[in-house]
Amino acid sequence: MLNKNIETFLGFDSEYDDASFVIFGAPFDSTTSFRPGTRFASKIMRSESFGLETYSPYQDADLTDFSLFDGGDLELSFGNTERALNKIEEFTTQILDDAKTPCMIGGEHLVTLGAVRAVAKKYPDLYVIQFDAHTDLREDYLDQRLSHATVIRRIWDLLGDGRIYQYGIRSGDRPEFEWAAKQHVFMQKFNFDGLGKTVEQLQGKPVYLTIDLDVLDPSVFPGTGTPEAGGVTFMELLQAVLTVSGLNIVACDVNELSPVYDQSGVSTAVACKVLRELAIAINKK
Ligand code: MN
Ligand code: MN
Repeated sequence: MLNKNIETFLGFDSEYDDASFVIFGAPFDSTTSFRPGTRFASKIMRSESFGLETYSPYQDADLTDFSLFDGGDLELSFGNTERALNKIEEFTTQILDDAKTPCMIGGEHLVTLGAVRAVAKKYPDLYVIQFDAHTDLREDYLDQRLSHATVIRRIWDLLGDGRIYQYGIRSGDRPEFEWAAKQHVFMQKFNFDGLGKTVEQLQGKPVYLTIDLDVLDPSVFPGTGTPEAGGVTFMELLQAVLTVSGLNIVACDVNELSPVYDQSGVSTAVACKVLRELAIAINKK
């Protein structure tokens, strides 16, 4: 018998009802300030993921060990940011209500706000761990309060002081760094030093993990809208993902892959591998 040609991410073959972990694409890049293109990430990741194996030698585990579901891509209104965020929030809420872990594929980083709105409603004591080259702490950007350059500030509006842990940060304007230094957020510049201590502090707390893939060095991951030299290696990011996976991660995302800027396809392959390792790490524990 023939099967319908439905392309899911590698190893995400379960039915929704059986699944514990649900990925979906949020192909939105309307507020991108420099180079758009992240709207294509989830589709290209699905097709390129088949260049990977389902088995992770790092974790001695296989995507097929778990019940994983790929919910496809949301249809988002490009001209209407608030409406796009609402749709992401609604979809995330549904997955949480069904007692599953949502994992969104961006899109530009602003999509995280929609998902965090949903998760923070269910978990008012939510903490956010952000891996990123950029602070994303601007109060507004080019007169826009909703932007990939303001997303973490908008999340701070929701959660308040002491709830956001940033790692790998190496870009932002001076006021952003000064604001962060007033203890509004915890910021580790340049690398993942101290992540183990954060994990100790957040034991038992609900955590949202957001991975802006531009935390990686552009030599590893050139396919992104605002590449920033001086980033971490793939192995450092993998180690960081494994370190935080011991926490109670109630939702997560990977964002800011912009495949068109990397003709070699390496960035997409890296993004797929990050997602594989993340899915295995969260489901394994
Ligand atoms: Mn970001
Ligand atoms: Mn970034």
